[in-house]
Amino acid sequence: MNYAQMLRPAIATVPVYEPGKPIEVVARELGLCPDGIAKMASNENPLGSSPKALAAAKEALSGAWMYPENSGYFLRNRLAQKLGVEVSMLTISAGSNDYLYMLGDLFMAPGVEVVMSKPAFITGKIAALLCGASPVEVPLKADLSQDLDGLLAAITEKTRIVYLPDPNNPTGTVCTQAELDRFVAALPDHVLLAYDEAYREYRAEAPDLIPHIRAGKKIICTRTFSKIYGLAGLRVGYAISSPELAGFINRVRPPFNVSVPALAAALAAVDDDEWVEKCRCANAAGLVELREGLEALGLACVKGEANFILCRFGADAMSIYDKLQARGWIVRPVKNYGLPEYLRISVGTEAQNAGLVAAVRALLAERAL
Ligand SMILES: *Cc1c(COP(=O)(O)O)cnc(C)c1O
Repeated sequence: MNYAQMLRPAIATVPVYEPGKPIEVVARELGLCPDGIAKMASNENPLGSSPKALAAAKEALSGAWMYPENSGYFLRNRLAQKLGVEVSMLTISAGSNDYLYMLGDLFMAPGVEVVMSKPAFITGKIAALLCGASPVEVPLKADLSQDLDGLLAAITEKTRIVYLPDPNNPTGTVCTQAELDRFVAALPDHVLLAYDEAYREYRAEAPDLIPHIRAGKKIICTRTFSKIYGLAGLRVGYAISSPELAGFINRVRPPFNVSVPALAAALAAVDDDEWVEKCRCANAAGLVELREGLEALGLACVKGEANFILCRFGADAMSIYDKLQARGWIVRPVKNYGLPEYLRISVGTEAQNAGLVAAVRALLAERAL
């Protein structure tokens, strides 16, 4: 018997997550110098890590020989104060992606339906398929925002999870508080809303679903230190839910899944309001810069509030992607998301944003010749 025959049948259908290309890989492939390459492909923070978090992580390394404090006691306490929730409502994870897998362990199985947008961030679909559950995908609206009424209409007796990333990835579009209030009110009692807030901190006014959790609605809000806090490489996130669901999460959470330096960095990051404010402002300015620059070239951009922009390049999006990469600009193709005419571009530094727009301008001019 070979491994393929031994696998759970569900595994055969699962797509592999395709990450953005690392700078070192592109440098090697193209014979470019890594210093001349800008990675605007993985929605990482172009300003780096929160300095307070980084200092704390370095200091914590001397304790690397010990297992981490498994429950995230200090981080959860600090978060509880900051968010005004009970410690029992908080769990930690090695990045917020992990919650989708943990929700899979808890709720997804053959015969279970998981409702999400087409496209939503791919991990929701991967988690469902891994468990043999059925992803039920609801098309986006014409402006590429999520169709909340459509998602509600897709719920059946078999549905256990609705996965809603907000802002969504790869589009960046958002839902408003009023839209979510209506959506949550209409959710049946046998469905858990997995509300993925990876880009929450970039929004000027982010919706707050905590009152709905307190009111007994089945919701888990997942958040991450990967994006605005600049700690993607350390792998740490957290979630807010009812204490009951938090207890179940902790049954399937792998022991010690958040490392010593990651816990220390996250604890310091929670208090780095100055950093969050600085990054939010820089990102908002960068989004405008990219949008105005690209629209001036006749390219349509999707209205979003995350740290990236989805831009329509048309039929030769992939060739533009290749040519940009050959010139040292790594962006993200999204044809695996069913958007072959678009590229997703992460907001970079001021210089990177201007440089990217100039590189696109040069390519389009070449094409026009
Ligand atoms: C980037 C991103 C995440 C973050 O994942 P981590 O595991 O926390 O690094 C989660 N959800 C969405 C929609 C994202 O785009």
